[in-house]
Amino acid sequence: MFSKLLIANRGEIACRIMRTARRLGLRTVAVYSEADAHALHVQAADEAYLIGPAPAAESYLRAQAILEVARRAGADAVHPGYGFLSENADFADACAAAGIAFVGPPPAAIRAMGGKSAAKALLGAAGVPLVPGYHGDDQSDTRLAAEAAEIGFPVLIKASAGGGGKGMRVVETAGGFADALAGARREAMAAFGDDVVLVEKYLTRPRHVEIQVLADAHGTVLHLFERDCSIQRRHQKVLEEAPAPGLDHATRRAMGEAAVAAAMAVGYVNAGTCEFLLDEDGRFYFMEMNTRLQVEHAVTEYITGLDLVEWQLRIAAGEPLSFGQDRLAVDGHAIEVRIYAEDPARNFLPSTGTLRHLSLPAEGLHLRLDTGVARGDAITIHYDPMIAKLIVWDRDRAAAVTRLRRALEETHILGVASNLDFLSAIARHPAFAAADLDTRFIDRNADALLPHARPATDEILALATLGILADRRRRSAEAAERSGDPYSPWHLASGWRLNDEAQEHLTFRDAGEEVHVVVHYRRDGSFRLNLPGGALTATAEIGEDGRLDAELDGVRRRATVVRHGLDLAVLTHGGTHRLSLIDPIAEAEAVEAAGGRLTAPMPGKIVSVLVDAGQVVEKGTPMIVLEAMKMEHTVVAPTDGTVTAVPFAAGEQVEEGVELIGFQPV
Ligand code: ADP
Repeated sequence: MFSKLLIANRGEIACRIMRTARRLGLRTVAVYSEADAHALHVQAADEAYLIGPAPAAESYLRAQAILEVARRAGADAVHPGYGFLSENADFADACAAAGIAFVGPPPAAIRAMGGKSAAKALLGAAGVPLVPGYHGDDQSDTRLAAEAAEIGFPVLIKASAGGGGKGMRVVETAGGFADALAGARREAMAAFGDDVVLVEKYLTRPRHVEIQVLADAHGTVLHLFERDCSIQRRHQKVLEEAPAPGLDHATRRAMGEAAVAAAMAVGYVNAGTCEFLLDEDGRFYFMEMNTRLQVEHAVTEYITGLDLVEWQLRIAAGEPLSFGQDRLAVDGHAIEVRIYAEDPARNFLPSTGTLRHLSLPAEGLHLRLDTGVARGDAITIHYDPMIAKLIVWDRDRAAAVTRLRRALEETHILGVASNLDFLSAIARHPAFAAADLDTRFIDRNADALLPHARPATDEILALATLGILADRRRRSAEAAERSGDPYSPWHLASGWRLNDEAQEHLTFRDAGEEVHVVVHYRRDGSFRLNLPGGALTATAEIGEDGRLDAELDGVRRRATVVRHGLDLAVLTHGGTHRLSLIDPIAEAEAVEAAGGRLTAPMPGKIVSVLVDAGQVVEKGTPMIVLEAMKMEHTVVAPTDGTVTAVPFAAGEQVEEGVELIGFQPV
């Protein structure tokens, strides 16, 4: 075994790899960018080295700089994690040349599986079933269009170098092909520096089922069963589970064998994953092989009891697998959700900002959390916006689903948009409980899954109000203590008046509506709250961290109320409800500041401008396409109106918050 491991990655995966390395007695070396100087993975390592500025191209992708650190630190192995250099065969070669073990497959296997097109050609010849399609060298527009017509619509255009759903377009009809091709190529070029595409039949209701493979350097190739990753948005996974619900033994075995055959065809060694589409008729087709550890490997670890990173290290150190296929069995059911800083209501646009609040459920036998961030950390445009992976396990799927629901109820995030409520909605959806899965699950159930601005219940309004009142009372009690005259009436936050019971009016903005709450301060320290649905009597205490203990008409309730200026978030087991207090002056300023402006939600590059100044547009008309975080985002007209200015041209770089299009609503 090695003695010192350099982890050429960041975030949750770097932390996760270090955990196993430490358990095995290896010393750990982290590398980090300027943006990550205080990151968890840096704190977790025995040694850490700065390798460059925030952009990945200037830090985590600098193979030579990383190898230089490995030499200086005396590391004898490098684990690349996933993303970054993990599927870079040149990096694997360079490691070998430097006499450092690369914890991954041989460079030749990475190359063989590196392009989706070439991998398909190779595996098709080895008898692995493929989706009907064209993955040839002729990349002319006419050839690709002709192949699409031959395959029959709908078709899918994919970047051959693709990953993460980037550079992928579904095309429904021949008429839409040219535009989709241009978009896929653009996105592929931006993300991978390579715009070779393939075209294949678009299956309309497949499941994504993938097989985890483990191969040692002594010729043993095993599979560790499957994962169902059908719950996807933008062709990217958000929830994965193992085993795949309802998969019969024969199909499981056939898929396992196909994956092992694919691995053998390229001389594969180490952990890898063969991704398949499983069609409604039970037929399955190879999509691609990922020659690295997958984000969702944790569900396989739960059901097999194996530590995949441990086996990656053992295999890289030349150890043989100590068990055979017949020794492997599926134990229970595991589900993972990926908690992202992204806004489901805005087509899952990544969200950047500081994690002002992060509460996660406690880990244990049934629950695992992999994260690389802590409260106060920033989610930036430079890296993947994943905040954490939450993984649950139980004896069967139904019990695991119940655990997932509960764990999501206990998770709260403020400061960036997150997909938490969306994940909760999936976990609660009857179609999910019934395992009615396919890759269009989210599209099909979008109405039920996407957040609807639901009005606050009286209970939420009461908790919000009590959060404000109790906080005020706590602060004045502290001030009184400090002042030396704790009994002065000026420190009372009870709305104290000489004769009367005092009252106060609070106005909230909730889901676009104004809501009023009248507070009566009672002499015994309790409050009488007049809420839209009636009145109730309440008491409350709040801690510095916003934890509120309230009693509403004799019923005890717990919540967390977090306040940021005029914005409030009420965190309960029902989820997070956001409200804002109305302060008429601040209000007027905000409206003026935002008036009719269409601004860049994050820094990015203009891809194309689709309207001209003076043009009259209907609500929903695409106006400008922005590329940020390697994805394209289309800004559409928010209402019917007129374009008054087009300040940018394609190719220009824009900062967050700048006005992208002058727009006058009608
Ligand atoms: P990436 O490498 O970008 O993740 P994949 O080739 O792995 O791309 O595909 C990602 C997802 O896109 C799949 O899980 C599936 O949901 C969808 N997909 C890919 N190919 C097809 C197809 N031929 N028909 C239908 N859906 C597909």
